[in-house]
Amino acid sequence: MKDIKNLKRFIPMGILIGVIVILLGFIGFGYYQYVDLDTQNDSLRSRVAKLEDELGITTENLETTKEEKENLSAELNDKEEYVGQLRNQFEDIAGQVFILDKLSKTDEELLQKYSKIYFLNEHYVPEDLDNIPLTYLYDESKPKEVHAKVLPYLEDVIKDAADDGVTLWIVSAYRSYGTQGALKSGYSITYGSGANAFSADQGYSEHQLGTTIDFTTKNLGGGLNGFGDTEAYQWLQENAYKYGFVLSYSEDNSYYIFEPWHWRFVGVELAKELHKQGIGFYDMSQRGIDEYLISIFD
Ligand SMILES: [Zn+2]
Repeated sequence: MKDIKNLKRFIPMGILIGVIVILLGFIGFGYYQYVDLDTQNDSLRSRVAKLEDELGITTENLETTKEEKENLSAELNDKEEYVGQLRNQFEDIAGQVFILDKLSKTDEELLQKYSKIYFLNEHYVPEDLDNIPLTYLYDESKPKEVHAKVLPYLEDVIKDAADDGVTLWIVSAYRSYGTQGALKSGYSITYGSGANAFSADQGYSEHQLGTTIDFTTKNLGGGLNGFGDTEAYQWLQENAYKYGFVLSYSEDNSYYIFEPWHWRFVGVELAKELHKQGIGFYDMSQRGIDEYLISIFD
């Protein structure tokens, strides 16, 4: 009995001790976990700190790099601007050289006004002359020459006129100083001083240039008189400027008599401008005319 009593006292005691042991076990395990976590925590914290340091350095580097990049960009822009300026200057100079070169190769006599006070040198000969196709001549037995660069324009005039049903024949083109002298003498013998009115001493200059043509047409028998009343003249009045030809001595000019047959090539650009302004070649200032020399054969 006594043993059972003791046993009864011991059982709760045993349970209590058991519980205490288990609790201690938990506490011990918890503490261990705590210590372990704390250690891990410390390690993580120090890694974070280290990363933060590294990040700080990287951010600083990034700022520096950004600044350097901006500086380089600005420098690059300056350089590009400078290169752009150089390129413009180069293009300007190249353009000027091109114009000067083109002008140096263009005969400035071709756009000179020949008046009673300005003469073409008696030794002047055009740079290059071509034979005019015989079919364009009034008299095929008398070959004629024209400035080589004017020939294509002349052919266009005659062909386009023909397309419009208008016949243009050439009675005179390039005339050398010698030929003109002989012609003038012939006129002077026949007409005396009256020859000055239609073959004035200075008038030969335009034919000596090789750029000037005297036209005739059917029904005039190869003559020039009456040309002003023909449809050929009418057609030239309306169209010749498109091909670069202008009438040198219009009805009201102050140099010579009206010469409706006498057309001078001055280039399409100038001829169009004169047509637009409704003035003659001799009405424009020489300075104004000279600006078109560069484009005379364009
Ligand atoms: Zn003439």
